Amino acid sequence: MENIINYFSSIPSSHRALILAGGITFFWLIESIVPFIKFKYDKWQHAGINIFFTLTTIIVNFSLALLLLKAASWTTDAHFGILNWLPEMNIWLYAIFGLLLLDLIGAYLVHLIEHKVKFLWRFHLIHHTDTWIDTTSANRHHPGESVLRFIFTTLGVLIVGAPMWMVFLYQTLSVVATQFNHANIILPKKLDVFLSYFIVSPDMHKVHHHYVLPYTDSNYGNIFSVWDRLFGTFMTLDREKLKYGVDTHMKPEENNRLSNLLLIPFQKYRNSTNSE
Ligand SMILES: [Zn+2]
Ligand SMILES: [Zn+2]
Repeated sequence: MENIINYFSSIPSSHRALILAGGITFFWLIESIVPFIKFKYDKWQHAGINIFFTLTTIIVNFSLALLLLKAASWTTDAHFGILNWLPEMNIWLYAIFGLLLLDLIGAYLVHLIEHKVKFLWRFHLIHHTDTWIDTTSANRHHPGESVLRFIFTTLGVLIVGAPMWMVFLYQTLSVVATQFNHANIILPKKLDVFLSYFIVSPDMHKVHHHYVLPYTDSNYGNIFSVWDRLFGTFMTLDREKLKYGVDTHMKPEENNRLSNLLLIPFQKYRNSTNSE
C-alpha cells in the first residue's frame, strides 16, 4: 500500500497519458476483433470526434489541475472532510472507503444531477448523442461539461477530504473502468451479471446509453455499482433491445458532426418525448 501511495502521490503526467492511450488501444483491439455489435460505421471518423473531446477534457483538467492539488492538500492541512473526521483506521480500509466516497460524491451524484438539471443536461447530452458506443465514447464530454465536472470533482475532494494520491488513484481507475464499460465488447452473461454486483459492467452502462427514458435516467455509476443498487437507480435491459443515442438527437447530421456537437448546449432545448 505504501508503494501505491508513493506512486500516486507524484504520478507523472506522462504515465497518466500512457494509461489513457494504452487503455483505448487495448480495448480498441479487442472490440475490433470480437465486437459486441457489428456497427456499420466509419470507426476512424467516429473515433476522431470522440478523441477530440477526450483531448479537450485533458486540456481542461490539465489547466485546472493546480486547483485540485491545492484543494486536496488543504483538506489534509486543515483536517477537513469526512475522511479526516473519522477515527484512525487500517490503510486499506481507508483507501477503499475513500474511493467509494469519491465515487459517490464526485461521480454518481454529479452524474445524476447532470441528468436532472436542464442547464447541465444541455452539456452532458453530448455524451449521450453517440449512437455507436465503443471505448472512445468514454471521454466524449463537451468542454463545458469538463469544466463543470472539474468543479464538482474539486467540491467532492473537499467534502471527502481526500489526499492527492487517492484522487490520482481514483482518476486512474476511473479512466480504465469507463473505457472498459463503454467498449464494444461482450462478456459471458453470467460474468457480466457477477461483475455488476461490484463494478459498473459493460452491460450495465450500455443500458444508460439506451435512447429513451426511463433507461437514460438509470445506472449513473462510474466505477462502483453499489450506489445505483442502493439508491434504486439500477436497471437492466436485454442486450438485443439496446439502441444507443438520445431520442431528441437521432439525426446523424446532428449527432455525428463536431461543429454541431459543440453548439448543442446553446441550441433550443428539446424535451424528450418517448419512453418505453
Ligand atoms: Zn449520463
Ligand atoms: Zn457513458
